[in-house]
Amino acid sequence: MNEDITDVIEEVLISEDEIKSRIAEMAEEIGRDYHGKDLCVLSVLSGSFIFAADMVRALKIPVKVSFIFASSYGAGTESSGKVDIIKGKGFDPKGLDILILEDIVDTGRTLTAIKKLLLEEGAKSVEICTFLDKPERRVVDLHPKYVGFVIPNKFVAGYGLDYEYRYRQFPFVGILKPEMYEQRGSCVEEGN
Ligand code: 5GP
Repeated sequence: MNEDITDVIEEVLISEDEIKSRIAEMAEEIGRDYHGKDLCVLSVLSGSFIFAADMVRALKIPVKVSFIFASSYGAGTESSGKVDIIKGKGFDPKGLDILILEDIVDTGRTLTAIKKLLLEEGAKSVEICTFLDKPERRVVDLHPKYVGFVIPNKFVAGYGLDYEYRYRQFPFVGILKPEMYEQRGSCVEEGN
């Protein structure tokens, strides 16, 4: 079935140009803060893959790049509260200055669990850089050091963020039409 973007997206919340210039600003700031340090950026898969690809190319300091897989969404658009974490093979946080790159912070549970794991495994420092932040939804005390855009409590897709594995390739962030998930019901096993 061919779907038009306007069938799926209620409103473009953040345009491609806005994303580009915000990432350049964030990369400048991160570059200044981590100048002279041995920085390891950790991309939380799957949702951050596009953000991470753009961010590491915008950074003008040397970085190590690693990946971690986390899933917390049990059904459709609601987090299950339980976080599954799988580290990339060979990744050892011990002694590293780690900057986590995440697509969106919602309740904050996913990043709280990841941060705890990294610190338990001996990371020297752990900070968070999130592309999007929905502070209204927070249920834990978590404050990302770098935030691309603060957004309202709406389910969004695009620029890496999916709904049922789709729409990640949109170059913008859009608010998904609620009827998209209301009609289809839910068959999602994982959400990041
Ligand atoms: P948290 O543990 O902070 O509640 O959830 C973070 C994860 O929930 C994100 O990495 C993302 O996968 C998912 N998430 C939260 N809000 C949204 C949203 O509006 N759209 C999409 N596509 N995923 C979301």
